[in-house]
Amino acid sequence: MYNRLKILYQLQLIDDQLDELEELRGDLPNAVRELEEKINSLKEDIASKEKEKKESLKKRNSNELEIEKLKENQKKFKSQLYQVRNNKEYDALTKEIDHTEEQIKKLEEENDSLADLSKSLTDQIEEIKPQLDELKKELKEKEADLKEIIKANEKEEAKLQSQRKKIEGEVRKPDLAAYMRIRKAKKGKAVATIKRSACSGCHNIVPSQRQLEIRQNNRLYYCEYCGRILVSTEIAEKASEVV
Ligand SMILES: [Zn+2]
Repeated sequence: MYNRLKILYQLQLIDDQLDELEELRGDLPNAVRELEEKINSLKEDIASKEKEKKESLKKRNSNELEIEKLKENQKKFKSQLYQVRNNKEYDALTKEIDHTEEQIKKLEEENDSLADLSKSLTDQIEEIKPQLDELKKELKEKEADLKEIIKANEKEEAKLQSQRKKIEGEVRKPDLAAYMRIRKAKKGKAVATIKRSACSGCHNIVPSQRQLEIRQNNRLYYCEYCGRILVSTEIAEKASEVV
């Protein structure tokens, strides 16, 4: 019986270490993923602003060409003014001149606001870039940490897994089933010990009569509050010496 209890506690100790390793790794991949998402969204933001800038420049260039063409026409109309033969021709020509003037003004105004837009887009991009650099730096660090942890853990994890396999083989089938069931329900700890008269799993006081019985190490007891398997401190200490 003594050994049966000890081996259960050993299994718990091994699983505690495996849980710790998984916890270490569990956080970093998430952080890396989140950083990658943020970086991608900033990159997309910059790309869309660059595209808008390009389109604005294209439109400004085509407006410039149109303005030049209109100004040429304007010159032509103005020179024709000297050759008019009657009022009707004169009126028609001045109307053309006014209309062209308006068109030019409209295009120039449009170009002014397009230039303002380009300027503001450039400012926005310049504001995003340092944020992006900062995130990229952070990502690089996190990736390096993760790589290191995975590499460092590989050996330790393999060692623990092989230890676990050996110990698991020594645990009685029904005990293992109980262990796995409690471990799943309690998200980790299935076996607890007694610390300062309380269950180390749930910290509820174990009645002194029960503590006495547990100290006999002659049967399996469960904590009446959390349902974990309770072993004596003696068992826990002996198991720790081995693992
Ligand atoms: Zn308990």
